[in-house]
Amino acid sequence: MKRRILVVEDEAPIRDMITFVLEQNGFNTIEAQDYDQGIAKLIEPYPDLVLLDWMLPGGTGVKLAKKLKQHEHTRNIPIIMLTARSDEDDKVRGFEAGIDDYVTKPFSPKELIARIKAVIRRVSPTSLEETLDFQGLTLDPVAHRVSISGKSVELGPTEFRLLHFFMTHTERVYSREQLLDNVWGTNVYVEDRTVDVHIRRLRKAITGEGHENFIQTVRGSGYRFSGKIKSLI
Ligand code: CA
Repeated sequence: MKRRILVVEDEAPIRDMITFVLEQNGFNTIEAQDYDQGIAKLIEPYPDLVLLDWMLPGGTGVKLAKKLKQHEHTRNIPIIMLTARSDEDDKVRGFEAGIDDYVTKPFSPKELIARIKAVIRRVSPTSLEETLDFQGLTLDPVAHRVSISGKSVELGPTEFRLLHFFMTHTERVYSREQLLDNVWGTNVYVEDRTVDVHIRRLRKAITGEGHENFIQTVRGSGYRFSGKIKSLI
């Protein structure tokens, strides 16, 4: 699935250049040429990211960013600000408004794409569609397939999401509560113990070549997915 980027920029040549570059790099684009259009295009299906010019007819980019961050449905859409300004105070104001990153004009297409990918990866590390590989354990998020050394592994949907989360967040301890928020979602009421049940199932499913040992219980804290051998203390 292609990611959709809303480009809010009043200068047509710059907007055209940006949309061209984005589409060449596999993104879909939505265009807006001023503040009001920017607001009007923030509807379902929501864009995955907003590229926002600082100076816009009808209202500043910062104002638009603040508005976006106020609403439940648009709050989590990452914003990259396009700006000719390099003033520190302006940047601080922007970050306070919830902007994720800046690209200062003039910028190269390569830089723009790199920044966009970095922000998407940071904001939703599990959303990138690349196949993950961890010492012989592979997970393909597009085909929904998991295998060990080429041999297919059967996982339930929760175990799949759990493994996906672990493989994109390695070497860090997560509490049961954090795992629930990230894997089950924040609006779901599930007991902490449920996590343990699914961890057990996941471990069992990937047992065979020692991959189950990657899922480590950290006493009193939670779980960690790690390729390093657990200390025996
Ligand atoms: Ca402008």
